[in-house]
Amino acid sequence: MEIKTLTFEACMMHGQKAVKVEPQSLTYSPQDTVVKVECGGICGSDIHYYYEGRAGLSVIKHPMTIGHEFVGRIHQAPEGSPLKVGQKVAVNPSQPCNHCAFCLEGKQNECPNMRFMGSAQFNPHVGGGFAQYVSVSQAQCHPYDESVAARIMAFAEPTSVAIHAVNVAGSIVGKRVLVIGAGPIGALTMSAAKAAGAAEVIASDLSERCRSIALEMGADGSFDPRDAESTERYYRDRGYFDVVFEASGAQAAVESAVFATRPNGVIVQIGMGASPVQFPVAQMLAKELSWKGSFRFINEFATAVAWLEKGIIDPRPIISAEYDYHQIEEALIKASDKNVSSKVLVTF
Ligand SMILES: [Zn+2]
Ligand SMILES: [Zn+2]
Repeated sequence: MEIKTLTFEACMMHGQKAVKVEPQSLTYSPQDTVVKVECGGICGSDIHYYYEGRAGLSVIKHPMTIGHEFVGRIHQAPEGSPLKVGQKVAVNPSQPCNHCAFCLEGKQNECPNMRFMGSAQFNPHVGGGFAQYVSVSQAQCHPYDESVAARIMAFAEPTSVAIHAVNVAGSIVGKRVLVIGAGPIGALTMSAAKAAGAAEVIASDLSERCRSIALEMGADGSFDPRDAESTERYYRDRGYFDVVFEASGAQAAVESAVFATRPNGVIVQIGMGASPVQFPVAQMLAKELSWKGSFRFINEFATAVAWLEKGIIDPRPIISAEYDYHQIEEALIKASDKNVSSKVLVTF
């Protein structure tokens, strides 16, 4: 059995404000799947690891390759695998255990043993994909057409999150939909809701820049939640929307979602606020609203790859900047500035 070794560079997070491009090596056998990374997207957790040395409860305890949104080409496929060397693949960063009670029920997103790539939840940490090469499992690789740009397929993971949120809402065919928060996940949720048959999708965001991206992503309209006329129109008479996706996690937004939703409507919470928020319980009860959380994704990854491949979702309006991986620090700083950035991509 021939063992090979690759040396390459990776974007390593050492702790707060300490990200370095460093040499790494990978030893692999003919049974391993190795991907040559082409493009990745910076997500909120990567930014938290950079500025705080942690993302929520996950603290950086040793240097870790960051990045969980990435695509590349097969460098080596296991013997007998349908994957071909050179083939373009989107890599699903989820690695559920597949034998706990939740996995066996098909709820892999709830797996307590989930080894999500680019996460410091466990020690040793699970390395991510911001590296020239990465070893993954065959099952994580979703081939996509050669004609589709890596910068488009780099959205496979956040698009999976958006499609999962739409699935959580139930059928939205013919429904009126509000998406609060038009950052990358909110904007992708608008496109996913349109693709899933929503009659009308409206975006709410404080930022003019994000509202115009929302329109480019297929929203039928947008408004500033501080605008009295719009809020009067959408919040009066016990609400206007059948389904509201709350993608900001902010207290005011969580509250306004309740007023914007019609009786018997559904609120899907995608935004995870930093601090606990309060709900107007009396209104929720009186309108018999359903409130559902949406966390990560399950088999929506394959759907996301298909929708991006076919152009059903076109994420290009969300791309704010692209950096070579050697500029990872500048890329993280740029991505953290919400006045100018939606999704920042890193190329390898
Ligand atoms: Zn992400
Ligand atoms: Zn499991």
